[in-house]
Amino acid sequence: MTDAIRDTDHAIHRTSHKGYESENTYSGVLSFMRRRYTRDLAGVDVAVTGIPLDLSTTNRSGARMGPAAIRAATAQLNEKIHPWGFGPCDTLSVVDYGDCPLDNHRPHTIPDAITNHARKIIANGTTMLALGGDHFITYPILKAHVEKHGAPLSLIHFDAHCDTWPDDAPDSLNHGTMFYKAIKEGLVDPKRSVQVGIRTWNDDFMGVDVMGADWVHEHGVKATVDRILDIVGANASYLTFDIDCLDPAFAPGTGTPVAGGLSSAQALAILRGLVPVKIVGMDVVEVAPSYDHAEITAIAAAHVAAEMLCVLAAQRR
Ligand code: MN
Ligand code: MN
Repeated sequence: MTDAIRDTDHAIHRTSHKGYESENTYSGVLSFMRRRYTRDLAGVDVAVTGIPLDLSTTNRSGARMGPAAIRAATAQLNEKIHPWGFGPCDTLSVVDYGDCPLDNHRPHTIPDAITNHARKIIANGTTMLALGGDHFITYPILKAHVEKHGAPLSLIHFDAHCDTWPDDAPDSLNHGTMFYKAIKEGLVDPKRSVQVGIRTWNDDFMGVDVMGADWVHEHGVKATVDRILDIVGANASYLTFDIDCLDPAFAPGTGTPVAGGLSSAQALAILRGLVPVKIVGMDVVEVAPSYDHAEITAIAAAHVAAEMLCVLAAQRR
């Protein structure tokens, strides 16, 4: 931005939920893209919220620190975004809703706490962009979105893992089985859902269209986008991005890294192709800053989140 820097802490002091105010990227109260912290959602198009959970991980935990790291990495995205040529907040009214309160010492209360948090945010038409947290959070978030938009939703799922491994325990907190439950319960229609970047095996992918990372590398961005658009069609779709979809070279700071993944450039280009999709909710999950180097992973997640907002903004421009 070339504007004069007139003030600091726009996360507290900004008066409009649209537009941009210059602020030094390294100073002040951090919020998502310098948006204002508020719980007042009147007229708000998108509320960004952190879900700092990491009790559901199978390998390395630490994603509870993800929302704070992603917020910090968005301080330098407080401007127009390449190659769109606009900033999402030129079009969309966006706020930072703060984090979901979770009682880690009463883990059985956590799924309902997340569902209730999501219900409040989306009740009057605001779209929710959640920052994880481990990937389990998507399951209670999906429940709230199905209540609002009807079942079943399409799932557009970027990940190294399918997260549909069998698990019939009703109360388990597991970031590798929640889409098995979501499909079994009819929250998600597997025939109109896609998984992108997968490179771990499951004997039963439950009928979801799986585009492995190898398939994306062989066929490229355009073919991937075309296949996503073809599968989800006009169905209401929930977009979930597990940062371990990216290769560990581009996202080392995550709990369950797997070699052979997408590059940041591939993933961002695929996201840019999703403008025709009816997106009802979004998340970016599994950023674990303790394993990060030079904030590589948080920066990638910040760009993924910004790209998601640009897609919504492009739909309304
Ligand atoms: Mn996952
Ligand atoms: Mn994963």
